Amino acid sequence: MTEIAVELTFPDDMELLEIKTSEGTLSFQGKHLGTVDNERDGRPRWAELELYKYVSTDPGEVIESRVLGNVKTYGRQMYLLHTMGHSVLYHKKNGCNKGVLVPVEDFPKRAEFPEYLEPCPECRPPDWSKMENGTVMELEVIRHLIYKCATAVDLLAELRRPGKKSCPGCGGVRGGQCARCRGKGWVPGPPTLSAPGARLVEMVKFKDDDIRKAASTTRKL
Ligand SMILES: [Zn+2]
Ligand SMILES: [Zn+2]
Repeated sequence: MTEIAVELTFPDDMELLEIKTSEGTLSFQGKHLGTVDNERDGRPRWAELELYKYVSTDPGEVIESRVLGNVKTYGRQMYLLHTMGHSVLYHKKNGCNKGVLVPVEDFPKRAEFPEYLEPCPECRPPDWSKMENGTVMELEVIRHLIYKCATAVDLLAELRRPGKKSCPGCGGVRGGQCARCRGKGWVPGPPTLSAPGARLVEMVKFKDDDIRKAASTTRKL
């Protein structure tokens, strides 16, 4: 059986957009809803989140939705969440295994923010700028993740992180002998929006009815 692809039409407020990722460029008909950059603020790692609405043009794509089950996405308006993990850390070779091996002379062009590079406080590499050419160290590079979400509920789920709640065994006392939390003071709790995720939702919920509805549902406790 041959399926004839239906000619897709796109909403007037969408245009051809492109985003660059580590695995090449993504091109799609969509619109930008918002970007949150929780900014470095002294931390060596931080996140940036970009949200788009787009129309899927992939005739064979099926994705799993928490509310709709398996969804054929062709022609459907979807959410595209692009997260970027930024870092200014570098490590010793065979240090923490969190970066890519780069000779120090290439650090200025491979690092996202070469002027702010910081040695990892755990493996404590020597100052990269004082090392001889050819010395290889592990450089953390930008990490892109792409999430395609069929509904606003799925989008909000992607923005949540495993939660923590005060340990009922020790009442949240850190460093004790509590076997339940092993001295951490907390145990896993219900997932909650990450801080940048919450800011993104606040930013976009007045631009997108479905996100507003998904973010304002009543949950029974
Ligand atoms: Zn390290
Ligand atoms: Zn405890």
